[in-house]
Amino acid sequence: MTRRHTIDELVRPLVRELKPYSSARDEYTGETGGMSFLDANENPFDTGVNRYPDPHQRRLKKRIAEFRQVPEDHLLLGNGSDEVLDLLFRVFCEPGTDAVITLPPTYGMYGVLADINGVRNIQVPLGPGFQPDVPAILAQSGKHTKLLFLCSPNNPTGNSLDQESVVSLLEAFPGLVVIDEAYIDFSDHPGYAPLMATYPNLVLTQTFSKALGMAGIRLGICIANPKVIDYLKRVKPPYNVNELTQRFALENLTDPGRIRRQVAQLNQERRLLSESLEEISFVKEIFPSDANFLLVRVDDADQRYAQLIQNGIVVRNRSGQLNCKNTLRLTIGTPEENTRLLRVLASLPDKIPAK
Ligand SMILES: *Cc1c(COP(=O)(O)O)cnc(C)c1O
Repeated sequence: MTRRHTIDELVRPLVRELKPYSSARDEYTGETGGMSFLDANENPFDTGVNRYPDPHQRRLKKRIAEFRQVPEDHLLLGNGSDEVLDLLFRVFCEPGTDAVITLPPTYGMYGVLADINGVRNIQVPLGPGFQPDVPAILAQSGKHTKLLFLCSPNNPTGNSLDQESVVSLLEAFPGLVVIDEAYIDFSDHPGYAPLMATYPNLVLTQTFSKALGMAGIRLGICIANPKVIDYLKRVKPPYNVNELTQRFALENLTDPGRIRRQVAQLNQERRLLSESLEEISFVKEIFPSDANFLLVRVDDADQRYAQLIQNGIVVRNRSGQLNCKNTLRLTIGTPEENTRLLRVLASLPDKIPAK
C-alpha cells in the first residue's frame, strides 16, 4: 500500500507553480466608504449590480461558516457544487496520467468530469447494501489515484455510507477523499466536518440546491483544510459567484428554522410515502433512504415511467445505472404532490400487458 500523500505532493505541478490572476478587487482591499472606484472599467451608474461582486464572498462565507460551524478559511464557494468538483479535478488530476475512483451506482457528474478532464475513472462498484468495498478500493489505489469520490447519503440509492468504511478509507487512501454531502441535512448523521482536523486529506462538498431550497441560484460549498482551499482558489474564476447569488444566499440563510422545519417535513413525508408504496403491488423493493428521495424497484421501470408521465408526474428512471435495473427515483414533493403520486400509482394496472 502507498502511504497517504501530502497536499503539496498531490497537487498538479503546474498549479503549485501558478501565479493566479489578480483582479481589481484583489489589488485594492482598503476602505470602501467615500472612495471613487475607477479601477475595474465598470459603468459607474447605479443599476444595483453595476459593480463586480466580491471575489472572496467575505460576508457570505462568514454567514456560512457560522451556519456550518467551520472556520472561514476552510471554505470555498462555487457556481454550484458541480464547479467545486470540477476545480478538484483541475487542481489535482494531471490529464492522461492521473485517475480517480468512483463507486457506482452514484452521482453521474464525477464520471462526466473525469471524461471532460481526460482523467481515468476507476469504477469500484458499491457492494451489498450499496456500501463501499474497502479492500477492492484500496487494491486499486496508488500514486496516480488522486481523488476518491464518496457520496453520503448516496445518489441515486439514498443510503448513507458506513462510517467505519469511510474512516478506513480516510486512514488508508493515498489521495484526497471527497465526500459529497449534498443530502446531509436529511440524514441523522452529523456529517464529516468534525473529522476535518484529524484528516488533512478529507474534502467535503455541500450545496444550496437540496435542503436549503436554492437550486436556482447555483451555489456550492467546499469544506477542506486551508492548504487545499488555497490551491482551489488559485484556479477558480475570480468572480465565480455572482452578486445576485451572494445577496440571495445571505438574505435566505438568516432563517435556519425554515430549513429545519422543511427538512423535518420532507423526512416525515418520505416515511409516509415509503409505507404507502409497500401497498402498491408492482413496487418490488423500496431502498432505505436518508435523503429527500426514494429509490424503488418496480416490475417494469420503462413502462411505469411512461404511465406516470401520462398522468402528469415526472420521476427519474435510474434503470441504466449499475445494479439499479427497473428502478425509479422519486423525489419527495409537497404533501399534495406525494398524495397525487400515490393516487396515480394505485390507479395503474397491476400487470403490464404483454407486448
Ligand atoms: C444534486 C446533487 C449535487 C448538487 O449539485 P449543484 O451543482 O450544487 O446543484 C451534488 N451532488 C450530488 C450527489 C447531488 O445529487
